Parts: sequence; structure tokens; C-alpha cells
Amino acid sequence: MQTPRLRIAIQKKGRLSKESQNLLKQCGVKFNMVGERLVVHAENMPIDLLLVRDDDIPGLIMDGVVDLGVIGENELEEVGLERIARNEPADYKKLRRLDFGGCRLSIAIDKDARYSGPQDLQGKRIATTYPQLVKRYMDERGVKFSTCMLNGSVEVAPRAGLADAICDLVSTGATLEANGLKEVEVILRSKAALIQAQIPMSAEKQALIDRLLTRMQGVIQAKESKYIMLHAPTDRLDQIKQLLPGAEDPTVMPLSQDRTKVAIHLVSSENLFWETMEQLKELGASSILVLPIEKMME
Ligand code: ATP
Ligand code: MG
Repeated sequence: MQTPRLRIAIQKKGRLSKESQNLLKQCGVKFNMVGERLVVHAENMPIDLLLVRDDDIPGLIMDGVVDLGVIGENELEEVGLERIARNEPADYKKLRRLDFGGCRLSIAIDKDARYSGPQDLQGKRIATTYPQLVKRYMDERGVKFSTCMLNGSVEVAPRAGLADAICDLVSTGATLEANGLKEVEVILRSKAALIQAQIPMSAEKQALIDRLLTRMQGVIQAKESKYIMLHAPTDRLDQIKQLLPGAEDPTVMPLSQDRTKVAIHLVSSENLFWETMEQLKELGASSILVLPIEKMME
């Protein structure tokens, strides 16, 4: 019998699309994005990719129409609250947070306005694409306000006289600054996440999901890790080990000729900074190499 294909929804075009595609590719899913197709079949696994607007991904998961999705937590939580308010299914399983799509959802006001806390927003109008998240934040603080729903150009709303404040996604803050605004409250810190529908899965599908997840863990862990190699004077081994991040139990090997030195190899969950490399050199270490790791499985 043919295994039913696993359906994964990812953003078609936008801030999450490239990295969602890369992640799947690094997990060994082979596919070819051509043209304007909505569905792309993977060539080497029973997986179909559904390319949609990010707004649609939470609903597709919560309605059980697709099995997996990659989505920003901001969008996921907003849609979840909206569906709960409408009495629609809002269940999902978060399999893991991913290492991209980082941003914060923040309230910003005129850069010259005084601000001492959320109560200063009492009775104000806030322009946003995330009315549910703003409402949850303000309700928790007992602040009454009104919203102005905008799906784009939120940051110009105060200048255009549409609102007193905005609540929008921020990464560097440059857009806010360019519009004469200052960030005063962070209401959510968001990243992309891999989510699964809360529907019964066949054993084959679940096994495929588990495999993908293990690979994803390996890819993300590898990105955050380095392989470090160096030669160290045998009599300074202890001092050198203390400088190396995460070097509880490195591999130490003799060199074929020089008995005064040993080779140290280790996988570190941190990068080795220039300053540390310079200190290692001062202690007599040489041939210091820091290499990226492509994949890992523990
Ligand atoms: P779509 O056409 O798919 O609806 P969109 O315009 O709603 O796209 P994008 O701007 O592509 O969405 O952003 C997608 C997600 O990327 C956001 O929901 C958020 O999770 C994340 N993100 C990361 N950094 C930022 C940022 N600086 N501004 C906006 N979104 C960001
Ligand atoms: Mg969108």
C-alpha cells in the first residue's frame, strides 16, 4: 500500500520562505520550486509542500488540513486567539522553535511623547495587524483602548492621524525610527516554529514526522556548534582546556613527530572568539582551526 503523503505548509513568499525551504533541504527533502505552484512534490520522500500566505498556515493546521507547518509564533498566537473568540478549533502541537524569523511585537508611540507605563495608553487608539495579541496584553494590565486594524503600513498610522500608537513587528527598530516612533512595550518575542496538527496520524506518517524532527534537531544543533582543532604544548594542556568552551572531554592525540605537543579536537556548542584564539596562541597553541559542522546526530 502507498503511504499517504505528509503535507507541510510553508510561506510562499516572504521573510520565512527561504529559510523554511532551506531547513527542509538540509533535512534531506529534495524538491524543485518552479513557477507559481501551490503544491510541490518532494522527489525522494512521501512529502508535499503547500506554498501559501503565512496568514493561512495556522488555520490549515488547526483545521487539520495539513500535517505540519512552519510559521511565526506571532501569527500562530494571533490566529489562535481569533479562533478561540469565534469558537473554532484552535489546537496544534508545537514540535519545536526554529532558529530563524526572530522578531518582537512591540507598541510604539511618537518619539517625543512622554511614557511611564501601559496606563499611558488608556483610551488611546492603537493601529495594528495583531488586535487579539494587543487586547490580551492590555486586558492583563487593565488598560482600555481601541484598535485600528491595518494590514500594512502600520508605522505611518500615527503621522497620518489614524491612531495614537502602533503595535507592530520590530527587528532592528530602524523602521520605527524612520517614522519618528519609539518602542515602549514588547508584547511578544517571536520566532518561527514547526507545528503539527492535532489529528490522528497513521503510524507511517508519525514515523516520518519523527524522522524529520530528529534531522531538524541535528541541523539546528550543528549550526550552533563548531568543530575546534588545535595543537597544544603538552605541559600547558590543563590551562588550554580551561579556555576552550565546552571542553569537558576533548579528544587529545599525540602528534607523529613532535612529542612536546598534542592535538586537541572537540565539538563546541559555542563559537571560539578571536580573543580566546589569541589567548590560546599566547599559551603556545598553534594550528588553531574552527570549522563549521554540517550535520550531527547524537
Ligand atoms: P504573506 O504574504 O505570506 O502574508 P507577510 O507580509 O504577512 O507575508 P512577512 O513580512 O513575510 O509576512 O513576515 C513573515 C513573518 O516573518 C512574520 O510574521 C514574523 O514572524 C517574521 N519576521 C521576522 N522579522 C520580521 C520583521 N522585521 N518584520 C516583520 N516580520 C518579521
Ligand atoms: Mg501575512
